[in-house]
Amino acid sequence: MIITLEPDAPEEQLTAVVRAAERHAGVSVRTFEFRGETSTITEVHLVGPTSAVPVEAFEHLPGVRGVARVSRRYRLIGRHRPGEETRAFTCNGVRFDDKQVHLLAGLCAVDTRQHVEEMMAALRDAGLTTTRMGAYKPRTSPYEFQGLGRACLPWVFELAGKYGVRVVAMEVTDARHLDEITAALAEAGDPTGVMVQIGTRNAQNFELLRQVGQQRRFPVLFKRGMGITLEESLNACEYIASEGNPNILFCLRGVKTHLGEPHRNLVDFGHVPVVRRLTRLPVCIDPSHSVGRLDLAPDGLPDVFHVTGQGVIAGASAVLVDFHPRPEAALCDGPQALPLRDLPRLQRYVERVRAAYEDVTR
Ligand code: PEP
Ligand code: MN
Repeated sequence: MIITLEPDAPEEQLTAVVRAAERHAGVSVRTFEFRGETSTITEVHLVGPTSAVPVEAFEHLPGVRGVARVSRRYRLIGRHRPGEETRAFTCNGVRFDDKQVHLLAGLCAVDTRQHVEEMMAALRDAGLTTTRMGAYKPRTSPYEFQGLGRACLPWVFELAGKYGVRVVAMEVTDARHLDEITAALAEAGDPTGVMVQIGTRNAQNFELLRQVGQQRRFPVLFKRGMGITLEESLNACEYIASEGNPNILFCLRGVKTHLGEPHRNLVDFGHVPVVRRLTRLPVCIDPSHSVGRLDLAPDGLPDVFHVTGQGVIAGASAVLVDFHPRPEAALCDGPQALPLRDLPRLQRYVERVRAAYEDVTR
């Protein structure tokens, strides 16, 4: 059972609800705080034998906004009532919700300072403030480029600041990377914000999920596991949230099966509305890792554009996409990286598709 309090409910009201809940034998009580832009909402969760606990016992207590029986999965991330709002969060002043689409365009893997600078300059010219920059790369072979790691963080963050980029999505593969990012940001004077990414290969690394859940400074961009069910991926997000960090952007990135060929993965953006129905998480799509190549359709648009359109028309509100100033020189995933000249074109395309989505859902 979940008891939701009114925004910014005073401490006494919360205490009264918790006391009332604790009167029920065998039921354990936990509170969760969701800090929004302008207010904080607290939920009191009752876990255990709650079927005998009457809803009315809480409904009339001062400060209670609603009581929901949660027999279903996904206690924290779940959308337990159809009308419930998507759980928005802000990262360094940028709001991630379901009301607008953010393009997180950038390098799959940071390689040189010059490439990072050219990428950041292209973002500024396009008026974009969100990017992706991989420093820690989990690669299939140990002999492939593993990313520059902590060594590149000072200049990546400095350049982000220089070009007005406010959010850098960056994968972490170990809890130590959180400390390295925190230290590098502090050293550079916090010129930008970071959203930490959990890659598809770590979708069920429960220890890592716990670690990113135990901090609240960095929101988490969670990539669905490529070889597990959607339910398993959503449960992985529940791990993050249950440790105290509800600020999660759920990213679809295709699933691994030969049936997706010639694409790198089978594009799974038909799951955008499913994730939105089952959870309150804003949903991101990654067309680059889904498609994995830049072939053009007869209409002249790369498949990467077409699947982006499919995700955005289905209600995705973020697009994580690989670009590179010189794709042929990229040290990781060059074949799927769009050249910088395609950035304004993709931006315009996304805006038009989003407008169509808003038109039909208004
Ligand atoms: C990435 O986004 O750089 C990446 C490695 O993606 P995924 O974990 O989805 O393969
Ligand atoms: Mn990649």
